[in-house]
Amino acid sequence: MTQQPKRIDTKSREAFEAAKKIIPGGVNSPVRAFKSVSLTPPFIEKGKGSRIWDIDGNTYLDYIGSWGPLILGHAHPEVVEAIKQTAERGTSFGAPTELETSMAQLVVDRVPSIEVVRMVNSGTEATMSALRLARGYTKRNKILKFEGCYHGHADSLLIKAGSGVATLGLPDSPGVTEATAAHTITVPYNDLASVKLAFDQFGEEIAAVIVEPVAGNMGVVPPAEGFLQGLRTITERYGSLLIFDEVMTGFRVGLNSAQGRFGVTPDLTCLGKVIGGGLPVGAYGGKREIMEQVAPSGPIYQAGTLSGNPLAMVAGYTTLMKLGEPGVYEELEQKGARLEEGFRQNAAEKGMACTINRVGSMVCPFFTDQDVVNYETASTSDLKCFAAYFGHLLDLGVSIAPSQYEGMFVSTAHTASDIEQTIEAHREALKRL
Ligand code: PMP
Repeated sequence: MTQQPKRIDTKSREAFEAAKKIIPGGVNSPVRAFKSVSLTPPFIEKGKGSRIWDIDGNTYLDYIGSWGPLILGHAHPEVVEAIKQTAERGTSFGAPTELETSMAQLVVDRVPSIEVVRMVNSGTEATMSALRLARGYTKRNKILKFEGCYHGHADSLLIKAGSGVATLGLPDSPGVTEATAAHTITVPYNDLASVKLAFDQFGEEIAAVIVEPVAGNMGVVPPAEGFLQGLRTITERYGSLLIFDEVMTGFRVGLNSAQGRFGVTPDLTCLGKVIGGGLPVGAYGGKREIMEQVAPSGPIYQAGTLSGNPLAMVAGYTTLMKLGEPGVYEELEQKGARLEEGFRQNAAEKGMACTINRVGSMVCPFFTDQDVVNYETASTSDLKCFAAYFGHLLDLGVSIAPSQYEGMFVSTAHTASDIEQTIEAHREALKRL
């Protein structure tokens, strides 16, 4: 690997200082502040395809992809053109458009569990609304979630595990009341025995189990064999709803999302990220009988001034149409597999303990010798090592999420040569540790 000059970040530092004076922590979403890696975040000027440029003129191969949405890469020409043409005709009406029906139809056609779908503006809105629906529909209060899964920042989901298995939750943030937390049960991911214990104790009170079918917020953690099916069986037995939070995995791990890939059909599904093609979109949908309970068909209220916004719908629609072309997911799978293989070889060469988890185009190296199957094992990763590795990668022109607890996202815009360059940068970053 050619030795690159030291990365200059003078302008980003200045921009960050200016932002910090008037925006909490200088950012509009916490992880962007690079706190856990103790660096200044590059301020981005533009993106095109697999690359982004910062305001100091540095170029990076980007594996954040806006935290998942940009499965076609940055500024995909067809997506940009569709947004432009739509914007010419007005940016928002707060009235129904045919575009919303076309978008809904695509989602209904492709996501096995979804018969009826409602568009919202973020993943948080999707999960929050799905839970309200689950509670309203079942007339039960409690929900069960998994330690290390993130479902957005709604109060009842910002809950950490209580002590011991199958205990009620504790607030994870000031401002979340204990009363709210008490309705959220948290158990370890991939641990059906704990789920059963929780159902033994609270089964008749549990409105829903919400799960990331591939966890992507504790690094990437695939579901163990039988885990998702086990959740399906137990929720059916107790009359609880099964909610797949596919905000990250939806249209990421396959055209039919994780539920298609793993062959388990939930009652409700939450979507976000990819379905907006880089614009703010979320959605929740599922069985007709349940979704018909949402206003105005039914009594469970949920609304949005900008929901179904034409620009967001057309960006999402165009993205989903591109994803429907033959070979797209096979190509993503191959590129992901090549990254995984390269990373593995590099770690072996260096004699380093490294676990690499991957599902399709979601890839995640952990600095641990343990199998990473849940939050506890993800937490055995050496975070100091990750932070140093992250900094070296950035200097080498590769941008990954500034946290061990996130994955890398491969897009269709990453070329075979981008992937090889990334493997080479990874090798060099490991060498510099
Ligand atoms: N669910 C999952 C699985 C997510 O990964 C995220 C965001 N990373 C959310 C929900 C929340 O989505 P948003 O940030 O759009 O509110």
